[in-house]
Amino acid sequence: MTSSQATAHQTFSPEEHEGAALFLELARVAADLAEREHLRTFTLPYPPAAQLALDHTVSYCLARGHTPPKSVPQLMAWCREHTAGGALFQVPPTLVTSGALLIAPVALLPTRSCWELASVGPSGRVEQEAVRLLADLAARCETPAAYERCRRYLMEHPVIVQQDRMPALPRSRWNRELWSRVKSLYTRIPEHLLSDRALVLCDTCGLPARVKYEAGSGLPARWCERERCPADTPTRRISNPGRALILRCSLRTFLVLPGRTERAALNEFVRAEITHEFVPAGLGAYRVEDAACRSWLMRVDDRRQPAALAARTAETDPDLPDQVLVVAPGELAADPGYRAAFETALGAGRRRRTVLTAPENLVSHLRAGSTPREEERDDA
Ligand SMILES: [Zn+2]
Repeated sequence: MTSSQATAHQTFSPEEHEGAALFLELARVAADLAEREHLRTFTLPYPPAAQLALDHTVSYCLARGHTPPKSVPQLMAWCREHTAGGALFQVPPTLVTSGALLIAPVALLPTRSCWELASVGPSGRVEQEAVRLLADLAARCETPAAYERCRRYLMEHPVIVQQDRMPALPRSRWNRELWSRVKSLYTRIPEHLLSDRALVLCDTCGLPARVKYEAGSGLPARWCERERCPADTPTRRISNPGRALILRCSLRTFLVLPGRTERAALNEFVRAEITHEFVPAGLGAYRVEDAACRSWLMRVDDRRQPAALAARTAETDPDLPDQVLVVAPGELAADPGYRAAFETALGAGRRRRTVLTAPENLVSHLRAGSTPREEERDDA
């Protein structure tokens, strides 16, 4: 094990906290059941991992005087009520943000936190699937530039409706060659994403949404996969989604969601005339030099869970160059709690070589040419 891997495990160790270990186990089970469309139907038999998670939850509850859930459906119902930091799990905020739920109550679907936590550690597999699918796509592309075009297409097209696939349309931007490379990454719209047989999409992020009207309440409850779109964002309803296609969930979560932040970062480079090179490995990154000619690897990420982001940063890039820029949406990069949890989970070794920043601060950071180590010394 390299020193960086050892650091990652020492600093993000949910297995040492029983509530956190169970929360992560339930995240993996919820993600798995959702993909099998079992979250709504709860058809038997349940996968062995779900049954095992129920057994673990029952012993956990009995040892603490809580009434345990009686079945897997009841266990999943819990996941939309019990937050990570609540009385049941008591997960420290350095591991998982206190208000995190695994199932979104409005949608009855896994939250972003759930998909992120289901990707952490040796048993993680959601982000890992996205990385594998992108590696396969890169292998199908003849040049890195062709891969970059395909990756950008996926980022900008989480959902394809029939009109998008009509090559006869005048001035159509339909590209048959590109489509032949990416089409296997799309599926028919799964049943659990439909509301009254229609597909509802958020107008801001373009991802599946749900609007729930409850009798007697004022405003309808709203949810979209991005979870951070304004509450009054309109939605678009596709009443006949039979021929629509949707990008696989792992790619929507780990490629589409950071897409707008990546576009903002690249726009900053163009505006400031900073040259950058695309690095196809993993989910994709960029290599860029600062004013002192030092090389940085820039990864763009948009995740709800800062500690999970830090753990994945350390786990997936054991051979990183000395300095890493993690670019996150402005509201996350500026949040002191988010920064603190990210830096704690990175551990001292990695922290000295990593900077968390927002697209709007990227250029000033590169022009200042300071290393995280120097910034740390300045703060001392
Ligand atoms: Zn949205």
